[in-house]
Amino acid sequence: MLKKYRADCHIHTCLSPCGDSEMLPETIIKKVKEQGIDVICISDHNATENVLEVKKVGNREGITVIGGMEITSKEEVHVLAFFNDDSDLNDMQRVVYDNLPGTNNQELYGYQCCVDEFGYIKFLNQHLLIGATTLSIEEVVDAIHRFNGIAIAAHVDREAFSIVNQLGFIPEELEFDALEISSECNYREFSKKYISKEYGIMRYPIVSFSDAHKLDDIGKRCTIFICEKPTVESIKEAIKGVNRVILCDNSDV
Ligand SMILES: [Zn+2]
Ligand SMILES: [Zn+2]
Repeated sequence: MLKKYRADCHIHTCLSPCGDSEMLPETIIKKVKEQGIDVICISDHNATENVLEVKKVGNREGITVIGGMEITSKEEVHVLAFFNDDSDLNDMQRVVYDNLPGTNNQELYGYQCCVDEFGYIKFLNQHLLIGATTLSIEEVVDAIHRFNGIAIAAHVDREAFSIVNQLGFIPEELEFDALEISSECNYREFSKKYISKEYGIMRYPIVSFSDAHKLDDIGKRCTIFICEKPTVESIKEAIKGVNRVILCDNSDV
């Protein structure tokens, strides 16, 4: 049976150098429940160490947590990647770390905290998570699909780190499952601006999430997926189906 799932699939934790230190498993899930959200995806920059800890709290509290990350391609384009199985997520993480040069300067870019489910710091991630991988966008999207994941071009309306701004258009061969518009973007205005075929944008389904780096932003923008269960496969199906994806902000639900 089809059900409506309110989803915020772009949430950072304290592992992202730009993520607020309050973005901890328990505080995130508390806020998610307050916002009436059913499904979240954890998407730290190029890293996944906090996914399992948020999942543990989500399991306890009846919130579906899908693991993923926001990968930076060598063109400096952000791509959201989500996986159902932890083993697929780990395989993707290995590919990213094998192609992510540099060491973090925490004074300059911020602390990258790997925490347990209660928010205690286990260790600091030393990778340069704010940096770009040496993988092209095509290689990122291909790897995500090879590991059974879903690939979404992040915040395509923004000037920074969006495929539209970096390339000016979306090449035909790129097989994104959807494009994300940011929480501040009005869909009607966006579609009016990019309706022209030359951008290659309107052939993709559009979703929208909060890109929360602090607690107050969680749920600022959600997408409702109409599907049987809240898994990556079902969401993929919903995205492909007509009228099975509804963009909404807080006031809509
Ligand atoms: Zn981003
Ligand atoms: Zn983000």
